[in-house]
Amino acid sequence: MLRAENVSFSVHGKEILNGISLDVEASEIVSILGPNGAGKSTLLKCLAGFQPTSQGSISINGADVKKLSGAELAGLRAVLTQQVSIGFPISAREVVALGRAAKRNAIGDSDKIIDHAMALTGTTEFADRSLSTLSGGEQQRLHLARVIAQIWDQESAVLFLDEPTSALDLKHQFQLFDVCRNLCEQRNFSVVAILHDLKLAKEMTDKALLLKSGQTFASGKSREILTSESVCPLYEITSAQFELI
Ligand code: ADP
Ligand code: MG
Repeated sequence: MLRAENVSFSVHGKEILNGISLDVEASEIVSILGPNGAGKSTLLKCLAGFQPTSQGSISINGADVKKLSGAELAGLRAVLTQQVSIGFPISAREVVALGRAAKRNAIGDSDKIIDHAMALTGTTEFADRSLSTLSGGEQQRLHLARVIAQIWDQESAVLFLDEPTSALDLKHQFQLFDVCRNLCEQRNFSVVAILHDLKLAKEMTDKALLLKSGQTFASGKSREILTSESVCPLYEITSAQFELI
């Protein structure tokens, strides 16, 4: 369970987030939407404890993220960032194995977890290929496998995903939400995903937080809130344009 209260973040005197609050219950999938530069990735980094906030509090399963060590955080949440670059030769399976690096002393069998995460994301077939030879979508699925492997043996963990479907074909977009839903139902995971696809957000996520210029524009149940009344002013599009989505 994730709780953020009144989170603000400024850098060099520039306010990037202002007074954001968010509650994500166990087993919930929450989407964050908003225009480019709204502060979505910054908020995700703050929520995940990657970036200290200027104000406000964030807790995961009751623990203040500010007070947790990197290793403790790694056991509570995993983060798929927008861009991941690994600047040395590495195989696909080794990328997923990186997700287990924080769990060297774990009781669970990391080899089995890596295989399982790869099967779930449809990446087994290129396990031995070099990362650099994979397509953008294949790499994205591989990094999803890596973050799933990281928290596979946890209960009630939080999965943070920054635009996880940006390079995926339709089949794999649905597969991603299937995997997330199963983790929520079977493990009490929570998922926080930044999305651009309004239809996917509306159908596949329970709640949505709409951000504009670093502030909460609206929030609520995805099906209720992702309508033309909120989406048009959020993205500054017309209702005719909304109909084309
Ligand atoms: P989004 O993910 O919604 O597209 P970001 O959270 O990446 O937006 O960024 C929000 C705004 O904050 C952008 O205008 C970005 O340029 C700015 N920003 C983010 N981090 C920094 C930083 N470290 N220094 C200066 N500006 C930043
Ligand atoms: Mg972003």
